[in-house]
Amino acid sequence: MRNIRAKKGLEIECKGWEQEAVLRMLYNNLDPEVAEHPESLVVYGGIGKAARNWESFDAIVETLRNLEADETLLIQSGKPVAVFKTHDEAPRVLLSNSVLVPKWANWEHFHELDKKGLMMYGQMTAGSWIYIGSQGIVQGTYETFAELANQHFGGSLKGTVTLTAGLGGMGGAQPLAVTMNSGVVIGVDVDESRIDKRIETRYTDVKTHDLDEALRLAEEARNKGEALSIGLVGNAVDTHRAILDKGFKIDVITDQTSAHDPLNGYVPQGYSLDEAAKLREEDPKKYVELSEASMAKHVEYMLEFQQNGAVAFDYGNNIRQVAFNNGVENAFDFPGFVPAYIRPLFCEGKGPFRFVALSGDPKDIERADEEMRKLFPDNEKLLRWLDLAQEKIAYQGLPARIAWLGYGERVKMGLALNRLVHDGEISAPIVIGRDHLDSGSVASPNRETESMKDGSDAVGDWAVLNALVNTAAGGSWISFHHGGGVGMGYSLHAGMVVVADGSERAERRLERVLTTDPGMGVVRHADAGYDIAVDVAKERGIHIPMITG
Ligand code: NAD
Repeated sequence: MRNIRAKKGLEIECKGWEQEAVLRMLYNNLDPEVAEHPESLVVYGGIGKAARNWESFDAIVETLRNLEADETLLIQSGKPVAVFKTHDEAPRVLLSNSVLVPKWANWEHFHELDKKGLMMYGQMTAGSWIYIGSQGIVQGTYETFAELANQHFGGSLKGTVTLTAGLGGMGGAQPLAVTMNSGVVIGVDVDESRIDKRIETRYTDVKTHDLDEALRLAEEARNKGEALSIGLVGNAVDTHRAILDKGFKIDVITDQTSAHDPLNGYVPQGYSLDEAAKLREEDPKKYVELSEASMAKHVEYMLEFQQNGAVAFDYGNNIRQVAFNNGVENAFDFPGFVPAYIRPLFCEGKGPFRFVALSGDPKDIERADEEMRKLFPDNEKLLRWLDLAQEKIAYQGLPARIAWLGYGERVKMGLALNRLVHDGEISAPIVIGRDHLDSGSVASPNRETESMKDGSDAVGDWAVLNALVNTAAGGSWISFHHGGGVGMGYSLHAGMVVVADGSERAERRLERVLTTDPGMGVVRHADAGYDIAVDVAKERGIHIPMITG
């Protein structure tokens, strides 16, 4: 079995730090500390992979080792397909993953192509090599629960119990985000090893197989007003029904099983993990039917919790759509998390800015954190987040930090990091990137672009323009994907990564890309008629011909 480890240190094996950055981030994505199932190249989110197969992985590594500073490598669904001479301010890598012509954009056709070795599912940051483990989503999850607490519980989750399922790569952030907001959470996962991983990385406090014990612990903590996260081993359909039957009060209900992928991401009721794996191989059609029927029940139970007074929201896995397609007519009675809690941030170009220390030295991230505190002394939310992150986040693979920053802030931080690398205060180059789940990079009508003010939820042009303008601006690697988050047919999205190596060239590229990228978020929301975005565009001088003149 292959054992890929994140590469650290100051010695490079590529012809420049930019190519080395790509290589290190690819390795990092597959480090067992970071990836969910590295042996099959799966990073997170169902079957979100870093490369199509091991032959492709080896060929990518070899090509990166030899790539010149004025060449660009092309990746087609996890396979290296060409190297062209471009120029030294163009991206070193361009990636397109899982993109299908709309009429064929469904899981059936994808699986056919995948079986023939012609496709790979890239999720969002798996196939675009900027996954940083569960931390990548923690702050977004934290912000979501914080906003929920503001809207429904007077600013804190203290004295409340949240019920959710799915403690995988991204869903594993939920327990920590709830306890950071002082609440109690029961996180159900059918795969015990996923809960163990969350306990090892301190994202979850305790594990149990016993539902009654989970409820007792939750009730005690709720009564004392203490924060506690409980990992409960079980199938969500069983546990949720039992909790409803016992009349136990749930205050918040959501879900992050990989419902976007009924074949690989969700375990049907009544099946052990082994039985599920066997059925998946032997009769995938039946598997999908059972899986979708279970999800329909799952959503019915979420609706029942909502009717009993819980705050319910969809956490970006498309489970409402699957339930709706399988007869649950009121599946969309609870909202998605973006329109409910996140959209105002997107209007300001705010989103999951992240950076990674290529040296592997945590001191580099500490120095970067310190700089962020200096640059944004009045941003209380950010400072509170940094305190919590420094105290509670265990790094996975290369040390990294996530920080939600908006238009203007990202470029400020990016240029500051480049200066610190130049001055030797940070020991090696820093990779700067983001999730595809961002303000101006995604079209996903059941998630990021749900209920847009002007009804433009399904307009994919914005994601394409994001990738194009970031390429023109000179990102280090730029990606375009289909199907991330919510599955085939439901989303189009783009990724951006840029390397701060301390050079003047990097400074120029950072200045451009960290302006165009969040700028697209402001523009997209201004165009849709959001006043906050129009104001931000006017105040900060973004040129939108038919709005700012
Ligand atoms: P993952 O595949 O790593 O984890 C999914 C987990 O669900 C697994 O641990 C699996 O054992 C568990 N599971 C499956 N069926 C179950 C069942 N019936 N009962 C209990 N547990 C079950 O995926 P991930 O990276 O954690 O992502 C989870 C979902 O959230 C995906 O659909 C993803 O696209 C979506 N997502 C949302 C956001 C967001 O910010 N809202 C961000 C990233 C991903």
